[in-house]
Amino acid sequence: MSLTERGPVSRRRFLARWGAGTVVLVAGFDLVARQWVTEAAAADSTSFAAAPSLDGTLTFDAESLAANAHDQGNIVFRTPCAVLRPGSVRDIRKMVAFCSDHGIEVAPAGAHHAMFGQPLVSGGLVIETRSLNTVHSIGTDGADVDAGVLWKDLIEAAYEQGLTPASITSYTSTTVGGTLSMGGIGMMSSYQVGAQVDHAQRLQVVTGEGHQKWCSDTQNSDLFEAALAGLGQCGVITRATLDLVPAKQSARTYRIGYADIPTFFQDIRVLANRGEFDSLGSIPQPGTAQPLTLWATVFHNTGEVPDASHLLRGLSPVADTAAFEDYGYLDYISLVTDMYDAFAANLDWDAKVKPWSDLFLPDGAVEEYVEAMFASLTPEDLGPTGFGLIFPMLRSSYGRPLLRLPSGASGPWVWLVSVLTDSARSGPDPDFASRMMDRNYRFYQDAAAVGGVRYPHGACAFTEADWQAHYGSMWTRFVSWKNEYDPNGILTPGPGIF
Ligand SMILES: Cc1cc2nc3c(=O)[nH]c(=O)nc-3n(C[C@H](O)[C@H](O)[C@H](O)COP(=O)(O)OP(=O)(O)OC[C@H]3O[C@@H](n4cnc5c(N)ncnc54)[C@H](O)[C@@H]3O)c2cc1C
Repeated sequence: MSLTERGPVSRRRFLARWGAGTVVLVAGFDLVARQWVTEAAAADSTSFAAAPSLDGTLTFDAESLAANAHDQGNIVFRTPCAVLRPGSVRDIRKMVAFCSDHGIEVAPAGAHHAMFGQPLVSGGLVIETRSLNTVHSIGTDGADVDAGVLWKDLIEAAYEQGLTPASITSYTSTTVGGTLSMGGIGMMSSYQVGAQVDHAQRLQVVTGEGHQKWCSDTQNSDLFEAALAGLGQCGVITRATLDLVPAKQSARTYRIGYADIPTFFQDIRVLANRGEFDSLGSIPQPGTAQPLTLWATVFHNTGEVPDASHLLRGLSPVADTAAFEDYGYLDYISLVTDMYDAFAANLDWDAKVKPWSDLFLPDGAVEEYVEAMFASLTPEDLGPTGFGLIFPMLRSSYGRPLLRLPSGASGPWVWLVSVLTDSARSGPDPDFASRMMDRNYRFYQDAAAVGGVRYPHGACAFTEADWQAHYGSMWTRFVSWKNEYDPNGILTPGPGIF
């Protein structure tokens, strides 16, 4: 068998069987046994392809494999056969080229906060992008960062210079590459500026054959579009230049509790249309007396006191009960991250099964959808923490074609509607997961019937036909980008698109 022979990797034969303990370095790949081997094993192999020399490490010790065999969802488990901790982009280039030559699947993994196995690969190679985490520069013209940088580190570094990313997700212990591959809906920042993918100026990408390319709207623009919200299908994002905007010093968040859904939507639409708040949304708690609390946040500098009577004018009488809290800017940005991290510390959160449903609904259908969905939720659907998300997004500010949103003229807004279920007990629970998967697919179908679209972070088993419907008019182009940039089909099998 020649060293360049290609072929699908047998996932079963690739299952790791190495002992726990010390880090075991990989010497290469046995092309007949289709498995990574140590130096000792390589000596006995007649079909051995030596792994490239690396600046970082290539390992297959049990601990490294186990750490890369699950994500936050704890629904899908896939064990890789080797883990790359790159010491340079060159390492990623070399190893992707090696895997492409030998038909070995590759999954780039950021912080593993996806819910449905998106960063996992059975038998193949996981690239832990977090080992490349340099913030190269920060300025008014943008931030130049490695893809393994955590958003929270970028946010802190930028704030020292009075700047902040244009779009900031609720949880910020995620990587730049991870959210740029998903979309990055900015719940802590303005609902009128698009997603994080709308604020990438240029990317460095390693394609599925190991070619390193820069891309932007004006250079290799197809690759740029294919990488942004591209779920890692066409390349590994290794570095990005991102928009930064001036940061304010403080945030004031008004909270208004609503007992009924129509009044909530009436008021949040008034505020969204007026555009005076910086961030708007709700973290609903269905099944409670006030299932919907509207969070309306305005950023301001010291000395500029927000005027509630002006900002909250013209709302329903319940808005008279609005309470507010003041935060320093960074404290506000980390509110949700701190809450999730407290769950992790106190509720064994990382080990819970999390069948999250994340959908985008068109403006004209959202209210009815939420009414019906809330009415259907059981205590099991809610789980111990029992909350969701309802956030408006200005449709016209989202421009990247692979971040799919409801189309059609049903008003300026689309809405993120999420149900963030977690399991009562820790550890894998296939029966619970299976019931929740059925439920999520039902949620998805109900949403799709009224023009809704899935945000592919959540847990929903899609058929090939579902993926085609998901990408709609972009499907043919996505397929041709996949063929062009990953001709051996090795990249990122987790989402199950191709
Ligand atoms: C508590 C919580 C809150 C969240 N809040 C928000 C929110 O407000 N807005 C929002 O939009 N999302 C939110 N998410 C979803 C989150 O942004 C995505 O799951 C994101 O992909 C996680 O980033 P990560 O670094 O953990 O990526 P991973 O989970 O490791 O990877 C996600 C996908 O991207 C691919 N990938 C990772 N790195 C790269 C790379 N460098 N190049 C190419 N492909 C890559 C992986 O293969 C995988 O398919 C939240 C998730 C959690 C758990």
